[in-house]
Amino acid sequence: MKRRTSEIKLEDKSELELMRHYKKLSDENFCIEKGFYPLGSCTMKYNPRINEWASKLEGFSELHPNQDDDDCQGALKLMFELQSFLKIITGMDEICLQPCAGAHGEFSGMMVIKKYFEDKKDFRKKVIIPDNAHGTNPASAAMCGFEVLEVKSNQRGLVDIEELKKIVNEHNKSIAAIMMTNPNTLGLFDNNIVEISKIMHNNGSLLYYDGANYNAIMGYTNPKLMGFDVVHLNLHKTFSTPHAGGGPGAGPIGVVEDLREYLPVPRIEFDGKKYIRNYNYEKSIGKVSTFFGNFNVLIKAYTYILMLQKDLKKVSQDAVLSANYLKSKLKDYYKIAYDSHCAHEFVIDNSDKKEKGFSTLNIAKRLMDENIHPATIYFPLIIHEAFMVEPTESETKKVLDNFIDVMIKIAKEIENFENFDAYPKTTPVQRVDEVYAARHLDLKE
Ligand SMILES: *Cc1c(COP(=O)(O)O)cnc(C)c1O
Repeated sequence: MKRRTSEIKLEDKSELELMRHYKKLSDENFCIEKGFYPLGSCTMKYNPRINEWASKLEGFSELHPNQDDDDCQGALKLMFELQSFLKIITGMDEICLQPCAGAHGEFSGMMVIKKYFEDKKDFRKKVIIPDNAHGTNPASAAMCGFEVLEVKSNQRGLVDIEELKKIVNEHNKSIAAIMMTNPNTLGLFDNNIVEISKIMHNNGSLLYYDGANYNAIMGYTNPKLMGFDVVHLNLHKTFSTPHAGGGPGAGPIGVVEDLREYLPVPRIEFDGKKYIRNYNYEKSIGKVSTFFGNFNVLIKAYTYILMLQKDLKKVSQDAVLSANYLKSKLKDYYKIAYDSHCAHEFVIDNSDKKEKGFSTLNIAKRLMDENIHPATIYFPLIIHEAFMVEPTESETKKVLDNFIDVMIKIAKEIENFENFDAYPKTTPVQRVDEVYAARHLDLKE
């Protein structure tokens, strides 16, 4: 029996004391409203407050997910329209809003691919993934029961086509799909994508597009044009809904016509008179979350898209411009991994600085004392001292210029062998043991 037998010893605190306590804790947090947050691959852009306003409207926030379709036409219409918007944005034939995160979208999309092949009695067990893919890709493929084959990058940081052909020849009909991000995690757009899609399709295999960082291409191209069959988007990155700290998020998936019937149910549809939840898909992979996913997040993304409309293209334009601006201003001071025109982010390789005793970790910790959140470090794995910068489109030139000045100042401090060991000095928590919590998980301490 786990039932409590003694009284809980809770301290008696007033509301004001509690408010002060939590306010103090929240002030100690770093957030986008406090300073620049160039966390590569995470798209820490500004989340417009109007999204919050819309999601709190009583008609949405007081709804119960089990209400009849007739009683929640507005909410169903919002989801149906969001699906239509995302169809236009991705070029895909059908969208499902149910998955609650990027990785959850990958899992759902790969389950759709698995079901498609099973339905054709074509049992394919392998998935090709480039060595610069996001770590969630191989994990999602493995969770669906696929065996992962890695394809190496070439000297330009793109998929090595010859190597890909070799793998396809060797494993041919056992390959279900390739999972790719384009631009990839080095921020580079793979111009060979049409050839890659031909190689895969000629083998009867499908192409999965990791569209978590869609702000790189929005309005310029789309996965359908590139030859992809399945895509997921991270509404909590590109479409400005809050994230970090584990969620909530939304990772809708889109598919081409041939895969439509395998999508999760219920599907949000319009029957000519009203919006309905349709469970009537025999070949569906089933449900992947409670009800229809994170509805509150969907409202925020819907609001963002309605606010911007055609200017969504400008989001990508500015995100890419900001990244290239930073890269060109920093490249005399830091080594850029695979230096060519980048998309929404780029990767600095600090291996030369490491030789002088300054690791990427040291540089990240140093940056924290300048009221700047560190970049993403040690990812992608193929760059040993990776420092991945994604400015996003939300920042002004003034903020970018300050980042450039700070980074140049740090590069000069490194030249002078200044000691970085004590940084950060001004944050509420200083250096933490990076692995202790993972190795000795004790939630009671
Ligand atoms: C963030 C990200 C993911 C995972 O998204 P989650 O919502 O954290 O599960 C997958 N792929 C790429 C490229 C990403 O940047």
